[in-house]
Amino acid sequence: MRRPIVIGNWKMNGDSAFTGDHLRSLADKWAGVHNAEVAVCPPYPYLSLASDILEQTNIAWGAQDISVEKNGAYTGEVSASMLADCGCKFAIVGHSERREYHAESSELVAKKFKVAVESGIVPVLCVGESLEDREADKTFDVVGRQLLKVVEHCGLDVVAKGIIAYEPIWAIGTGKSATPQIAQDVHSYIREVLGPEGDQIKILYGGSVKPDSAEALFKQKDIDGALVGGASLKVDDFVDICKAAE
Ligand code: PEP
Repeated sequence: MRRPIVIGNWKMNGDSAFTGDHLRSLADKWAGVHNAEVAVCPPYPYLSLASDILEQTNIAWGAQDISVEKNGAYTGEVSASMLADCGCKFAIVGHSERREYHAESSELVAKKFKVAVESGIVPVLCVGESLEDREADKTFDVVGRQLLKVVEHCGLDVVAKGIIAYEPIWAIGTGKSATPQIAQDVHSYIREVLGPEGDQIKILYGGSVKPDSAEALFKQKDIDGALVGGASLKVDDFVDICKAAE
């Protein structure tokens, strides 16, 4: 059995007042015993606030990225071991915004995945195709290549320690989620590429998940939860998505 999980990616949003209020309210509304696991990834400066507020709760926290380097003269970078030291359980790697705006290659993403696992962080690997790729019928090609880079670099035993998030670029922040069937087809392909190990690996869907689209997505056999951007900034919407994953 794969325990469902919903992870909020706040991106570069919020300030300390927003973060404090949001996390306290989330902790309150998600108190108790739940089948689904919940985590949030606020911006780096607010991770210590997340640690203070969430430490005694059932909500985990993580980072939106990590450095590929372990330590040293890398100005502006934050290492996986520092994040683990700050209580982060997760780190997103290879988000399409980082691939696009920071020219992160699949090779670099694969190295980040490995460094995360070596530091005790669960990497959440984002893969997904652009609209152009989809229209050219290259979805499986693109997603398969992004995934195989990580498998080749890390080995399946290491990949099994992480989480995969299928995030079609055309669905991110557009309000236009993939249909449950489109998402399921790609999730099932990802599981096939992962082979027997794939049965235990959680595969999340990400891309404009909202309370009213979550349930149908989570009913799909190979969808184990969601990586949520915009809707994770509204506590009630995020909690409703988490409830749909139960
Ligand atoms: C994301 O950026 O990971 C994401 C899924 O964003 P949104 O939910 O806003 O589409």
